[in-house]
Amino acid sequence: MKKLHLFTPGPTMVPGDVALAGAKDMVHHRTDQFYEIYEECAVKLQTIFETKLRVLTLNSTGSGAMEAAVSNLVSPGETMITFNGGKFGERWTKIGNAYRCNVHEVKYEWSDASTPDKLEQALKDAPDTVGVFTQLSETSSGVLNPIKDLTEIAHAAGKLIIVDAISGLLAHPCPMDDWDLDVLISGSQKGFMMPPGIAFIVLGPRAVEKMEKTDRTGFYFDLVAAIKNDAKRTHPWTSNVSLFQQLNVALDMLLEEGLPNIHKRHEIQGEAVRSAADALGFKRLSEKFPSNVLTPILMPEGIDSTKVAKFMRDEWGIFMAAGQNDYKTKIIRIGTIGYQDYFDTIMGLAAFEMAMKKFGAPIELGVGVKAAQEVFMSYLC
Ligand SMILES: *Cc1c(COP(=O)(O)O)cnc(C)c1O
Repeated sequence: MKKLHLFTPGPTMVPGDVALAGAKDMVHHRTDQFYEIYEECAVKLQTIFETKLRVLTLNSTGSGAMEAAVSNLVSPGETMITFNGGKFGERWTKIGNAYRCNVHEVKYEWSDASTPDKLEQALKDAPDTVGVFTQLSETSSGVLNPIKDLTEIAHAAGKLIIVDAISGLLAHPCPMDDWDLDVLISGSQKGFMMPPGIAFIVLGPRAVEKMEKTDRTGFYFDLVAAIKNDAKRTHPWTSNVSLFQQLNVALDMLLEEGLPNIHKRHEIQGEAVRSAADALGFKRLSEKFPSNVLTPILMPEGIDSTKVAKFMRDEWGIFMAAGQNDYKTKIIRIGTIGYQDYFDTIMGLAAFEMAMKKFGAPIELGVGVKAAQEVFMSYLC
């Protein structure tokens, strides 16, 4: 027997009740029956995004909303600042290039963050930029960026800030209204404990104003059409009906837990994994700017993380992601988002220790697990 356990920073595990809701009879998307589900989800999403604004949904994974932000807000030839400190920051650059925007990319080492000083410099180097495109949590490096500070700097310069919180939302506070963000994006298969396939995007008033002046490109991800249809509680295209039935259930579960408790849960999970890694004597890539979405653990000399990840996955059904790009074989990323409780994390750490020992890491079994248990006990008992 092999049970599957996802410790990946997306997709994440899906509760049985959410999975079952996807098996309900199909509802036609141009009916009151669907409009009602749509609206229930839309209202609940406002709590999650901490906004009074409408949360638009797109029939795609999170990258679709990233693409929509670029194609609707930046005209071809206009300048955008991107922060490439990992795979997803790099994605902003690639999308900008695909839409023939003038991308001013700030590239830096993956252990680093998009810090205020980097933004100040970028704004000096690219004063004509439309906006600043960054991540709340950079999933390839496990780095948390200081979005609140960056927003203040961007606004002082009269620029928009566009935040990809696809993995970071729910794991860390990122209040749309309180921080006065211009665009906030997320996706279903991360903290929402949903299957992949719904992207979320909130547009603030400055973003809407800019959009109206933009020489917009693209067709499927036309946000003006999305806004128009949202007023009718539907999408421009066929809605992903089953996913909405699931989302409605997942949002009920999240709201029942409550946003502050959800943030606290991720904080405790992150602390537990960091403390396990430290007790085992492993270095963490995002040591300076740790995100609670995942913890990237650097492999000791001579151990290839892709082999460790493959072994755990094939032999035990434990999915942890190895690295990407330069860090492909150098890190294991232990995710702590979605439908994952504290005892799942203990199990994941136990499997991780066993696998690392098998691959020759000089560790004593149980040391990391114990450190995590102590963190959990300090909160639970
Ligand atoms: C997962 C993720 C994405 C989007 O990936 P999709 O495969 O399109 O869902 C974008 N940014 C970050 C930070 C992510 O973690």
